[in-house]
This record gives sequence, structure tokens and C-alpha cells, in this order.
Amino acid sequence: MATIPWLADVLRSAGVQVKEEGSWLTRMRPGDFNPIGVLWHHTAATSSATNPHPALNVCINGRSDLPGPLCQALVDYHGVFHIISAGRCNHAGTSGGSGPIPAGDGNTLMIGWEIDYNGVSQEMTAAQYNASIAATAAVLTRLGKDASYARGHRETSTSGKIDPSFIDLNVMRSDVAAKMSGGNAWSTIVDNTTAGRFTASANWGVSTYSSQRYGADYRYANPVLASDTAWYKVNIPATANYRVDAWWPAVSGYNSATPYVIATTTGNRTVYVDQRTGGGQWRSLGTFALPAGDANRVGVSRWTSASGLVIADAIRVTRV
Ligand SMILES: [Zn+2]
Repeated sequence: MATIPWLADVLRSAGVQVKEEGSWLTRMRPGDFNPIGVLWHHTAATSSATNPHPALNVCINGRSDLPGPLCQALVDYHGVFHIISAGRCNHAGTSGGSGPIPAGDGNTLMIGWEIDYNGVSQEMTAAQYNASIAATAAVLTRLGKDASYARGHRETSTSGKIDPSFIDLNVMRSDVAAKMSGGNAWSTIVDNTTAGRFTASANWGVSTYSSQRYGADYRYANPVLASDTAWYKVNIPATANYRVDAWWPAVSGYNSATPYVIATTTGNRTVYVDQRTGGGQWRSLGTFALPAGDANRVGVSRWTSASGLVIADAIRVTRV
């Protein structure tokens, strides 16, 4: 049976904060372990700044129905990786096959991160996300695998797992790939407060209501069947394909079909998003051919027949 005694050092070298939990080098389940990928989970426990790793003990010791260890590492509220095991763990169950990960024994095939957040009323923190991206990139580099070998439990599960919630796993893999390539992919973020790069009419109010906002605040407007688009100006370095992501704070009363307009090389494209859910993170609007030059490139339109406020917070454009 293989082990991964290099795990703590590889993560530290990638700038990830690491805490080695006791006898992690010898704490493991019996059986095969030949990992080719990394699997993301959430613990379903509610973490906080003052209680950053509520599921740590259970991940080390297991439950009455499932002996521990339950993951190779737990990622706490602050993004610290608690290293629990250098070997096989009970985290993945049976893999149904996902991307390059074949069907089979998930605990043999994958290294698991249990990210400590509840996944129902709590999304992962930015610190957890950023540390998990860096750790996944470092481990896949060590394994000699590309970013497609990073999966979410809900993708490989054969028993209806929902974890990790509140995350677009394609965006996650894109962020892992960017990290593995040295972070050299061109990328820019425009927030509603970015000087000179956001314009909206006075019909768009300013709010700090939701803590899921990006930066200090965000803009909101009532839907109308008229054009009153809030625009993000982006200086595109070269005509090429770019992934466009959006960040909005989600509130149950916000709009279920907010139109994002992307000005591409072949005209405007509109993508509708449900701003009642999925907030507080980057969500992909898709990949588009964008022309070189500094211009209004992404907008949020008020023109929707759905009810509820439309929200303009932040966008991110990344060359792919
Ligand atoms: Zn899971």
C-alpha cells in the first residue's frame, strides 16, 4: 500500500498553512491506496472564526458507522490544512467515474479534503477556497496529473452526495489549472467600486445588505422592460477566448433571471443567472471570444420579466 508522507511538505512549499495532527504518518485504513486525483468535500458542520474546525475530531476518529480517518486533511475556517492521514481514508466510498477518475474504489483512487463548512446555510470561506486551490494544484503536480483530476464528491458519488456545495467545480478546476501553470493566465477583476471601470445610472442603488458581497458594497435595481445596463469596462489585451465569471450576493428575494450581457467579437450575448442562490463566489457565465481593447465588455441588464432586484457586484475575466 502506498502512502503520501510528502503531503505536509508539499503543501507548505505551496504556501499553504499546515498543522500536522498527531500520528498522521501511520493513521490510515487498511487496504489499497494508489491515488491519482483529489476529491473535495464539505463536512456539513458549521464553522466560525472562533470555532474553525468543528469536524476535526470526527474526521480523525470516525463515527459509529464509519471508522476514521475520514480524510487526508481537513481545511478549517481560516484555510489551515490539518493533516490527518498519509494513507487510505474513508472519504469517497464508491466512485461512479467522473472525468478521468474511473469507476471503482474511491478511497484507493483519491486524496480527500474535508472543507469544514455546513454547505446548506454556509458556503466555504475565501480562505478555505484559496488554500484548497493551492493545495490541490500542489498535490496534482506531485502526482503528475492535470487539473481535470480534481473532482467534487457530488461528481463521483454513487449515493447522491451533494458536497461540496456552493461551488462551481468547473471554475475550481480552471483555478487549479491556472495555479499549476504558475498563475500566468491573464485575469482581471472589476468590482462595482473599481475606479473608472463601472458605470450605472442613478436608478441603481448602493447596498451593503448581504455579507456575501464582493468588496465594500454592490449595486441593485428593480427589473424593468427597458435598457438600463450597468457596465464593467475591461481592457482586453488581445482578441482571444476568455472565461467570464460573475460574483453576486445571493438573497432569496433577488432576481431569478438576471441578464448578464457579454460584448463578444460577434455581438452581444446574454446569460441569465439566478441571483437567489449561489452567491458569495465566482460563478462562470461561460467562455467567449472577446476583442482586444478597453471598452464596456460585461454588463448587468435590468431587462428581465422575473421579479426581484437585479444585482451588479463584481466580474472576473480570465484568458483561457
Ligand atoms: Zn463528501
